[in-house]
Amino acid sequence: MNLSERDRLYNWHPYTQHKTAADFPAIVKGSGALLWDENDKEYIDAIASWWVNPYGHSNKIIADAIYDQLTTLEHVLFGGFTHDKAVLLAEKLMEILPDNQKKLFYSDNGSTAVEVALKSALQYFYNKGIPKTKIIAFKDAFHGDTFGAMASSGITFFTEAFKGSLLEVIRIPVPTIGNEEQSINALKDLVATNDFAAFIFEPLVQGAAGMVIYSPDALDEMIAVCQQNNVFTIADEVMTGFGKTGKTFATDYLANKPDMMCLSKALTGGTIPMAITTFSQDIFDGFFDDDTNKALFHGHTFTANPTGCAAALASISLLQSEEMQKNIVRINQSHLVFEKRIQLHPKVKTTRVLGVIFALEIKTENQESYYGTMRNTLYNFFIENGIILRPVGNIVYILPPYVITDEQLEKVYDAVGKALEIV
Ligand SMILES: *Cc1c(COP(=O)(O)O)cnc(C)c1O
Repeated sequence: MNLSERDRLYNWHPYTQHKTAADFPAIVKGSGALLWDENDKEYIDAIASWWVNPYGHSNKIIADAIYDQLTTLEHVLFGGFTHDKAVLLAEKLMEILPDNQKKLFYSDNGSTAVEVALKSALQYFYNKGIPKTKIIAFKDAFHGDTFGAMASSGITFFTEAFKGSLLEVIRIPVPTIGNEEQSINALKDLVATNDFAAFIFEPLVQGAAGMVIYSPDALDEMIAVCQQNNVFTIADEVMTGFGKTGKTFATDYLANKPDMMCLSKALTGGTIPMAITTFSQDIFDGFFDDDTNKALFHGHTFTANPTGCAAALASISLLQSEEMQKNIVRINQSHLVFEKRIQLHPKVKTTRVLGVIFALEIKTENQESYYGTMRNTLYNFFIENGIILRPVGNIVYILPPYVITDEQLEKVYDAVGKALEIV
């Protein structure tokens, strides 16, 4: 049996109906934007392996930083101790985060970063004896798969089975073009009730919804509404962070800064699972007390893992390099040229570009479901052609590693063009 066949015996994959799924390619090697399977078939990773890998697979600089750290201090508990890499990483992030972010809390993945943000918002008001127990989120949001994160997520078939066991989250429309006023008014109505501790959102781009993009102006106004009404704002930058939108953070497009931010995915360049929730001073101060019970009693065993911190430090230096900054601009410009070319295609409904993100909606007669037939046809077509793209319903998006070459990018565009002919 080859690896693909052996995999089937024991491994349970995410978001997978194993009864109907074919064997999965077994990837044995990666370099830059490329991956190779056990049969030596080459793939272009045009979604940076779920948005985690901007600097390329098996990046030597990050690998060396990890190796050095592993052979110096692989891990020490962060409860009661600290270490040089956690201090250095905190200092580095303070240089690049919005000025109002003053404290960092480490965890393991995007969902836990969101849990920590939600729990701090809720406990902040609990500590003060103020009854604010509900959360506001956007329709079709995605914030992760643990319970709090799932409650905040609005892609219903992800969460349907757990409806009865979730935190109370009220959803408002996304302020896409033409819907700004409706969205802002819905927010105003909710905050007026004084029941809400926080408003969580994916700033400017809703990734899992299919790269739905909305304007910073509307979000700025929404943050202002929350600030005036004592509702915390949580920018979930798990997908958008570290250059994807063309700036370091999507919040860099905003005049009003959120109270909390969630970071993960590209934080460690796609190497070690790690996440960070960042806070304004005001939130931290809501826990700062002589009373021990007012502390944030949350923690994960691998909190601030030194190896993860070392990987993050190396990743941020890479992001700041002239080469990566140029790559981001190059990919953006090339997306804009492709957009011009493809948007006139009779099967294309809409296109959108922000930073290194490109998305295209295919015209359909029916509402295509998230993992529906059209999506599967497209997905299989791309895999057959050695391109990793994971369409969402009728939406095809590209979010490549920043190191993808022009030639590889052309191959991806070409495959997208051809895919339009088969659906
Ligand atoms: C992927 C994602 C998450 C969840 O991160 P995990 O590491 O998969 O738990 C949360 N929020 C956003 C915006 C994401 O894209």
